[in-house]
Amino acid sequence: KLSNVSKWFPIKKGFGKKSYLKAVDDVSFNVFRGETFGLVGESGCGKTTLGRLMVRVYEPTSGKFLYKDSKEWIDLFSLKLSEFQPFRKKIQMIFQDPYSSLNPRMTVLQIITEGLTDSMLSQKEKKEMAVEMMKNVGLRPEYLSRYPHEFSGGQRQRIGIARALILKPELLICDEPVSALDVSVQAQVINLLMSLKGQYNLTYIFIAHDLAVVKYISDRIAVMYLGRIVELANSNELFANPLHPYTKALIASVPVPNPKLRKLRNVQPIQGEISSPIDPPACCLFASRCPYAMKVCAEQIPQLKAVEASHQVACFLY
Ligand code: SF4
Repeated sequence: KLSNVSKWFPIKKGFGKKSYLKAVDDVSFNVFRGETFGLVGESGCGKTTLGRLMVRVYEPTSGKFLYKDSKEWIDLFSLKLSEFQPFRKKIQMIFQDPYSSLNPRMTVLQIITEGLTDSMLSQKEKKEMAVEMMKNVGLRPEYLSRYPHEFSGGQRQRIGIARALILKPELLICDEPVSALDVSVQAQVINLLMSLKGQYNLTYIFIAHDLAVVKYISDRIAVMYLGRIVELANSNELFANPLHPYTKALIASVPVPNPKLRKLRNVQPIQGEISSPIDPPACCLFASRCPYAMKVCAEQIPQLKAVEASHQVACFLY
């Protein structure tokens, strides 16, 4: 459960003036065990910052991250970094760029077993675990002695997945895991992630800007705009009945190859410039681009409200 989570980065401006880039602002949602929770939005909307907060790469400005461990709820943001260590294994992240996320000076064996800090494990046992993991991500165990530059992008992402899964995580945060890959390789990596999910009993938070990919893999989807969640719904419901004008525009921007279907869609593409995330005003941040903007939209922040049991939207139209 993320509860009212914010991450504001201080910005130096003129003398005496404090400014903040509000990368994540008052975000709340729950993720259920075993589900794939998609997080979508344009570049710079805060989705990657949110993922990094959950693995404590960044420290939050405020908010709680409640994690159900056995029967207890623990606020992971309130733990000291040393107390957070056991959860570091339970919550793993795989990154967008398989080219820069692997240390070029380390062999694949060293990379995959680097996180196995348990002193009870011998080198032989670690290697056996790495061999098993290589097979599970579709790579040949003989490759363990090779270096990252000897692999393609798709293979490197498989190594990144093996490095995360060897720690037996419960929650895997996938930050744009396929956007740097060729389209044909994207499908292979997505299908691998889907089969590993069942095999390892995983929960995914899947961050992406590509709606087609998120729709394919997610049970529920949250749409982010300038640091805030503007809509959250079941995947099918979101695509069949998008409510927020921004979600509608995002869906309209997905290319449709059939020109007849394209005409039928009847949704205006997104217009105007995205507002600045630095010191944003207390109003709807989509107002400058919204064709339905009203007076109230410039005066108050719309809160996320349930319009149905499984559908929430932050917009004064509802
Ligand atoms: Fe548009 Fe107002 Fe809804 Fe914002 S709150 S999306 S400006 S109608």
